[in-house]
Amino acid sequence: MTNPSVNSTIQLISTGAAAGSTCSPDLATAPWEFDSAAPSYGPGSSMGDVIPTGSPRQGELPEDYRRATPEELDVRIRSAKATLGDRVVILGHFYQRNEVLQHADVVGDSFQLAQATKSRPQAEAIIFCGVHFMAETADLLSGPEQAVILPNLAAGCSMADMADLDSVTECWEQLEDLYGTEPDASGRVPVIPVTYMNSSAALKAFCGEHGGIVCTSSNAQTVLEWAFERGQRVLFFPDQHLGRNTAKAMGVPLTQMPMWNPRKALGGSTAAELDDARVILWHGFCSVHRRFTVGQIAEARVTHPGVQVIVHPECPMAVVDAADSAGSTDFIGKAIAAAPAGSTFAIGTEINLVQRLAAQHPEHTIFCLDPVICPCSTMYRIHAGYLAWVLEGLVGSSERPAEVLNRIEVDADVAVYAQVALERMLAARPPVAVTPPVPVAPTVTDAEPLLSGRP
Ligand code: SF4
Repeated sequence: MTNPSVNSTIQLISTGAAAGSTCSPDLATAPWEFDSAAPSYGPGSSMGDVIPTGSPRQGELPEDYRRATPEELDVRIRSAKATLGDRVVILGHFYQRNEVLQHADVVGDSFQLAQATKSRPQAEAIIFCGVHFMAETADLLSGPEQAVILPNLAAGCSMADMADLDSVTECWEQLEDLYGTEPDASGRVPVIPVTYMNSSAALKAFCGEHGGIVCTSSNAQTVLEWAFERGQRVLFFPDQHLGRNTAKAMGVPLTQMPMWNPRKALGGSTAAELDDARVILWHGFCSVHRRFTVGQIAEARVTHPGVQVIVHPECPMAVVDAADSAGSTDFIGKAIAAAPAGSTFAIGTEINLVQRLAAQHPEHTIFCLDPVICPCSTMYRIHAGYLAWVLEGLVGSSERPAEVLNRIEVDADVAVYAQVALERMLAARPPVAVTPPVPVAPTVTDAEPLLSGRP
């Protein structure tokens, strides 16, 4: 199986050796060039988003890692891993570049990787090749003696950053003024807060403390059903699209899904609109999935008659409606694996995963809906150079004592309530799977079984 690297494709395009286009020429630059520049998400899908002040920044990567060739880094990573053995586990998200993912012990989506954390109690260190909120979740679910490491601290998530604790607390206080705090005759409280997994630990804790819950793109419908049993309405953050697409599929009218923009009075809605609300949608989005359009789907149907279009539920509603199906990264992988040979798929999710699926399934034709190569900016900040650096830090040497670099630790008072919200999600597991189990591609994951269901 050839597994083309998005990074090498970008390099070829940037030098004119290959046709195609990228969303930024800076993608061909090594990510450490952005560590000392003004704070930004870096080139890629989130490059137009405003990064919050105070976002974690990565210090300078030592020169020998910056100068090392890809081949040298590969050898150094393998050597350090062999030395550490079971003392370390490397988790890799589907959206990571291949140069990093080839070293992962477990590959999966954010929830699969969080569960994998729990299945590796022997590992002293968990290196999370993903983004900041995922490493926080791994810390919440790992043992107290285990250190969770994020190879590049600048690997945040622009969507997660669109909802912060102060803004959500302010929103909550306004909703309490509007709705009161007393349950109705059936015992349902006025509002249940629901946060997407793609959020800070502080917001997961907010949900835990206020009777709320966490959801993933795999179980959003199950979680909303849980919330509607306990509340008259839901405050859903930070991704408006996942909230809208899921609630719409459950039959909630769009007129009962007002948006909450934290920069506007009452979130930009009227008191009457909020009074009638079933789901209040936070004004957040993923810049990767916002790139997909109805026009791209129409084009794919013209150029590839019979194509099946599958998109992620973080895509805008019009895109989900125009697609043949929508679901999490796990759902997309299973749908492709279950299809008869010779099928054609146009996929609306991050390019690294789409190219990998295409390589894993040569029996199908698989392409990305977006013809422009534009990876997730923050996932792209993780590079083999940082992975070698944190691994060799754990090994140590005669000149360099062993050390844990870039540890991600959630404060104990935050962790208590965040774990409550995560446990509620686990308890909300539906009794019967909505999506029938199908074989998983061999390199996808060896994590524990996922919560089932799809938005
Ligand atoms: S793909 Fe979107 S939601 Fe996922 S890490 Fe990147 S910006 Fe965040």
